Amino acid sequence: MIRSTVAHVDLDALRDNFLAVREFVEGNSGKPSSHLVAVVKANAYGHGAAQVALALQNAGAIMLACADIEEGVALRQAGVTVPILVFGALSVSDLDGLFEYSLTPTISSPAAAKAVQSAALRLQVVIGYHLKVDTGMHRLGFRHDNLKETLPSLLASQNLNLEAVYTHFATSDNPDTELFNEQRLRFEQAVSIVRKLGGVPKICHAANSAALLRDSRVWYDAVRPGLLLYGIVPPPLASTIPLRPVLSLTSRVVAVKGIRPGEGIGYGWNYRADEPMSIAVVPAGYADGVDTRLSGRGHVLIRGNRVPIVGAISMDMMMVDVTNCGVQPGDEVVIIGQQGHESWQSIGAREMAAAIDSIPWEIVCRLGSRIEREYSQS
Ligand SMILES: *Cc1c(COP(=O)(O)O)cnc(C)c1O
Repeated sequence: MIRSTVAHVDLDALRDNFLAVREFVEGNSGKPSSHLVAVVKANAYGHGAAQVALALQNAGAIMLACADIEEGVALRQAGVTVPILVFGALSVSDLDGLFEYSLTPTISSPAAAKAVQSAALRLQVVIGYHLKVDTGMHRLGFRHDNLKETLPSLLASQNLNLEAVYTHFATSDNPDTELFNEQRLRFEQAVSIVRKLGGVPKICHAANSAALLRDSRVWYDAVRPGLLLYGIVPPPLASTIPLRPVLSLTSRVVAVKGIRPGEGIGYGWNYRADEPMSIAVVPAGYADGVDTRLSGRGHVLIRGNRVPIVGAISMDMMMVDVTNCGVQPGDEVVIIGQQGHESWQSIGAREMAAAIDSIPWEIVCRLGSRIEREYSQS
């Protein structure tokens, strides 16, 4: 049995996007073996971590990245064999999974360094790690301006092996800030301090999707795209990389009914009909990830028409205005995706996010867990 609201995940599109991004970086950097760390945190941005990770591995990804140890363990259990970088802070985690499942930790604070070192010593192993430097994001990472104080004891840790140094940009999607350039310069400075202190990182990396699109100077030895792999360009940027959206979300009309002038629709009657109208009931609501703010702002596609969402979105259902569209129960509803070949017959996560002042990352990550993901791969 399968609900009528289904997310379709096109693993061929995912592979093609991965290859296109890699080609973009390799082709323009003159470095034939640029690393691409494929980001699959948060259930691969809602697309399904196991299937996405394996598809990326088959496409040639040589490293994947996730948010925490638990996600990394799930990737290993799904059969991922390439290195897995854990982005998150580890100071309050149970660290055993790092060793048991061969995950690569990020060390982003002195507390994390101590915790991982003592766990590795206890197990009598040496573990490779990526060092994170905070160059201005002010989230995780060793402060860039204090490395001479904080790094020596980390670099001297017998059971920790420095593999890479990285940072993360706070404003890579905003082309108008100076901070981006400052972070770039601070990062380069930080890497040289690491080397002066005796650290020998094999690679440096910094660029998420937006940074990768924006400035080839921050490609370094590896890039770390997430969103682009899923075929979504971070707003407000444009991209020349040929990408296809990986995810689409469809449903079916379960009921069609007439509304008389003056009558309201749904909870609170916050939408009222001025004229006789027809509405269709679609079995997808906020529990499925259809944000309540899409009421009056968002659209879906039915029979090739773009029809507005009207009335409050409920937990399991929403109503759309299908007046004069000849809609029948059973008709396909496209919530995210394409229905027809005209440009207006397509609704992307980016458009949906813009309608409600959100971001496309949030749209895909919040797809409900009860929604079946259907995978296609040729
Ligand atoms: C999520 C994340 C990325 C990928 O970001 P996108 O904007 O989706 O490309 C890269 N690096 C870090 C540290 C992240 O947390």
